[in-house]
Amino acid sequence: MDDVGKGHLFVISGPSGTGKGSICAGLTGKPGVALSVSMTTREPRKNEVDGENYYFVEKEMFQKTIKENGFYEYAEIFGEYYGTPKAPVREMIDSGLNVILEIDVDGAMQIKEKVPEVILVFILPPSPEELRRRMENRGTETSERIEKRLKRADIEIAQIDKYDYCVINDKLEKATEDMYAIIQSERLRDYSQAGTRKTGKLPDIPAISRAARLRIEEGSAEALINRYKKGRAN
Ligand code: 5GP
Repeated sequence: MDDVGKGHLFVISGPSGTGKGSICAGLTGKPGVALSVSMTTREPRKNEVDGENYYFVEKEMFQKTIKENGFYEYAEIFGEYYGTPKAPVREMIDSGLNVILEIDVDGAMQIKEKVPEVILVFILPPSPEELRRRMENRGTETSERIEKRLKRADIEIAQIDKYDYCVINDKLEKATEDMYAIIQSERLRDYSQAGTRKTGKLPDIPAISRAARLRIEEGSAEALINRYKKGRAN
């Protein structure tokens, strides 16, 4: 795809039920985009396919992969393990693909340590009420698990400032377009830095501040983030 060489690594995080999976599904098949398939010990949901949504494995297999240093990062979430297998991600990036990891905030921070040039994108649901409604409508979780996931959502949203971009998933199609626009603009940014990126050296232009890159869409993202912050203070 790119004639500038390697692809980029993108991380998509956001509360469970925010529609990250649907956005990723919408990006499947777009030129130059590949999704990383994580390994997990959790049970498959209805309609989930092994090797597509996740590699569903037993705990022993997961532990073995940890020992063999086979993960970029892994985390224990809701009592189950989730991890990003290293080799396929590396191969896809080297072949010029833009690779998307859909992982939690802790995993994103682990990746940032190892791959500082990673681009972090946070997906926000349009409101706290809508987030609850989506989780309930999914019909796959008990109410106890929904409460756990909502609590975790608060903790994750509190870390949004660590991210480079914010996309609001109100309408799925628009959110998917926004995500694709981010991928495209990062690719286009390469052309101005092609010389440095090609040689694998860090670009010698000043880094754009994270805050400046956090996309504030017509003021609505800012208002929404403030709403989440207020909710936590109560
Ligand atoms: P779910 O059980 O709803 O599919 O995922 C629960 C959480 O695990 C989500 O926040 C999802 O982004 C995160 N997750 C999925 N795969 C990985 C992974 O490989 N590593 C990490 N750290 N988190 C993951």
